[in-house]
Amino acid sequence: MTQPPQSTIAQHTEHLLRTLPEGVQLVAVSKFHPAQAILRAYDAGARHFGESRAQELAAKAPVLPPDIRWHFIGHLQTNKVRTVIPLAHLIESVDSPRLLQAIDREALAQGITARVLLQVHVAAEETKFGFTPTEILEYFSSRAFESLQATHICGIMAMASNTADTLRITSDFNRAAEIFRTIRRTTPDLRGFDTLSMGMSHDYPLAITAGANSVRIGSYIFGDRIP
Ligand SMILES: *Cc1c(COP(=O)(O)O)cnc(C)c1O
Repeated sequence: MTQPPQSTIAQHTEHLLRTLPEGVQLVAVSKFHPAQAILRAYDAGARHFGESRAQELAAKAPVLPPDIRWHFIGHLQTNKVRTVIPLAHLIESVDSPRLLQAIDREALAQGITARVLLQVHVAAEETKFGFTPTEILEYFSSRAFESLQATHICGIMAMASNTADTLRITSDFNRAAEIFRTIRRTTPDLRGFDTLSMGMSHDYPLAITAGANSVRIGSYIFGDRIP
């Protein structure tokens, strides 16, 4: 692995903060990178960071500045929910009704409100996690969300197909944006359902064009990672 020089982390963070359109949130994806690298991005102005493993989040959060807002972006196993919810400002990767229920139960038990995004599967790959478009639309039209007691659904998260085909990527992002807008239109009493998280290092400009207001950028800031 080649870590970029530390000045590059600062320069790339500053570049993003300067050039992302007004209203687009930067989530610096720091998974597999050490606390020292995170501090470079923090000192350059980033405050939202993304982690994909519960243990890694639990190890990093206590040794880094307390005003960092941690986003959990990996597949979350039910037995890790207890660890993650008190640390995460936002769990972006809620990929099933079962996980959502586990989060709600645990948040209630801990006396906190969990903030989550529902992950919708729009990519070509069959292995990717997430609600299908039909499932997520049904979840809202059936008003199943009303049974949540300690969870606030703040929006949706999506990933495009892993391809160089920009037409395909754009069509995936447009599909997710359309689902986001449909939910907002058909469930107008949903409060604070306002986050559309999509776009990574290689495709975030396309995501923003499609309507993303939060982007999750790792390798552009921190360089390559292991694994
Ligand atoms: C790793 C990861 C990212 C960041 O990807 P980069 O290509 O490094 O920018 C964004 N979103 C999710 C869900 C990820 O797992």
